[in-house]
Amino acid sequence: MRCPYCHVDGKDRVIDSRPVEDGHAIRRRRVCENCSRRYTTYERIEETVRLQVVKKDGTRVPFDRNKLLAGVQKACYKRPVPGEKVAKIVDAVEEEISRTGQREVESRLIGEIVIGASAYLGTLLVFFSKRVAGIKGFVQQTARLRGVSGARA
Ligand SMILES: [Zn+2]
Repeated sequence: MRCPYCHVDGKDRVIDSRPVEDGHAIRRRRVCENCSRRYTTYERIEETVRLQVVKKDGTRVPFDRNKLLAGVQKACYKRPVPGEKVAKIVDAVEEEISRTGQREVESRLIGEIVIGASAYLGTLLVFFSKRVAGIKGFVQQTARLRGVSGARA
């Protein structure tokens, strides 16, 4: 941090930090080791658009990574799948959906992904690339149908 008083860079030291705003931000008291004055900074999570999942009845719920994780685990329960592999499937799916910049994905598709994960466990990498390409196409197609233009971050 650049000190707001003496404008010297990187001489600050955090002397206190506590959650504020119901845990949505962290307030830090800093002291400048150059001029010894104190100031406060706030750290917040960047406001990004949360991915929405469109359910069968048309209602929308926020995308829940833990639900997807649990679903993949459930689908894989008969085979010993390391937790890290399950997490990687979820990562790849999540990343690819968010990279398209779309805000919505149908729950049906997520269900297919889960079933696919179970079926293709032997060839996870192949599964990744195929399914991920599929998701991309699907999301883009959905966007076109709805008249959404371009990707929004
Ligand atoms: Zn200073």
